[in-house]
Amino acid sequence: MPNKNSKLLQVCIIGSGPAGYYTAEALAKEENVRVDIIDKLPTPYGLIRGGVAPDHQKIKGVYRRYEKTSLGERVRFAGNLEAGQDVSLGELRELYDAVVLALGAPKDRTLGIPGDDKLGVIGSAEFVGWYNSHPDFAGLDPDLDISTVVVIGNGNVAVDAARVLAKTPQEMAASDLAPYAAEKIHAAPISKIWMLGRRGPLEAKFTPKEMGELGELQNCITVTDKDQIPDLTEEQLAALPLVVRKNMVHLKAFTGNRPEAGKKTLHMQFYSKPAEVLGEDRVTGLRLEKTRVENGNCIGTGEIFEIGCQMIIPCIGYRSVPLEGAKFREDWGCFDNQDGKIEDRLYCTGWARRGPTGTIGTNRPDGHQIAARILREVTPGGRPGGAGLDALAGRRGLEIITFGDWQKIEAAEEKAATGEAPRVKFHRTRDMLTAARR
Ligand code: NAP
Repeated sequence: MPNKNSKLLQVCIIGSGPAGYYTAEALAKEENVRVDIIDKLPTPYGLIRGGVAPDHQKIKGVYRRYEKTSLGERVRFAGNLEAGQDVSLGELRELYDAVVLALGAPKDRTLGIPGDDKLGVIGSAEFVGWYNSHPDFAGLDPDLDISTVVVIGNGNVAVDAARVLAKTPQEMAASDLAPYAAEKIHAAPISKIWMLGRRGPLEAKFTPKEMGELGELQNCITVTDKDQIPDLTEEQLAALPLVVRKNMVHLKAFTGNRPEAGKKTLHMQFYSKPAEVLGEDRVTGLRLEKTRVENGNCIGTGEIFEIGCQMIIPCIGYRSVPLEGAKFREDWGCFDNQDGKIEDRLYCTGWARRGPTGTIGTNRPDGHQIAARILREVTPGGRPGGAGLDALAGRRGLEIITFGDWQKIEAAEEKAATGEAPRVKFHRTRDMLTAARR
């Protein structure tokens, strides 16, 4: 009789973003573990590739760490394989001892106000995916022949969207902004970008580095209203979290800025809660209610005002997408779990576990904790793992993209780049597959 514990522990991670890779990294420290990371795209790294802003290449550089994990002998990337479509969760649970959902939160939360489905309202998942060459959103083709854009939200995604719209071609030269998006954005006659927060500057979720960047734009002046930035004493400032204190320095500096002829204006306005999207089929404006903040809560004052605009980008957070066979909490917008466990041998990590919060680095302890839990709770059951997945893919005529295949895609993208750009990303799955087959 073979010793049950000497068999390999076969783990499948669904989703190859940071949460998936940090989990794999921790699992791969154990000699008897084999990990397959599957992804519906032929390309790995999830949000690093499709979410992080194209001008934030330093942040994207973390993929080198995930690459190292993939090149190790205990972890395998299996791209172009969609869980729930090509292979069911039930089948994966038969093939592997444990399955981890690291699916992220790819869907926009909706505003939930009248008119939020009008043409010209484009959620951040779509808009960011579009300028980042994500195959699901490359065909978005937003109408940018417009003068005024409203970005809703005071998180870093809102800052990213506003900044990408504000930057010049020169400022984006060292980025991997999708060429079709660059062409449209840089030809757009946009002169005014609003960034609206429903609460105040002290409650904003963006971070100082991102605020600092808004003060250094070549062709865009960032302004804030003096009466919205609290004039705090040294003592009051000292009592604030460091991030808020640093944000306040930037926001205060923006009160001294004035719009300049020939330059775009980015107007950061607080205490403004969206109430209705105006227009017939297409957006022509946004009706808002002024608010005040009490104990951190946003209270409507009943005072209504309107902003004329032709495009609205709600950057108000994301939701995970349910996967058949895994309990989902509609109210949380992610999988129903207790400390990352959904049920026996089924786990989740990252945004699929906790919702869309935290930085890329937050996923590291998350992934490591799930890995430790799996190693503690799951014993190898003699399941076929990757060999079984390959056999199933063969029977179904599915083409699995390996890490080696991805490296061919990556090389082709780097080869296509000119000037300072690090790469030109493919935005069509078929082109990725063609490059992989070369
Ligand atoms: P976020 O940080 O949670 O910000 C969401 C914003 O939307 C908040 O200001 C929130 O206001 C507002 N909001 C929510 N519902 C709203 C509604 N119905 N009407 C008006 N405003 C509404 O989310 P995010 O910006 O999508 O970012 C997601 C995560 O990715 C965050 O953890 C973020 O830090 C991270 N990220 C980091 C970077 C970076 O490090 N450079 C870049 C991008 C994203 P309230 O606060 O009032 O709820």
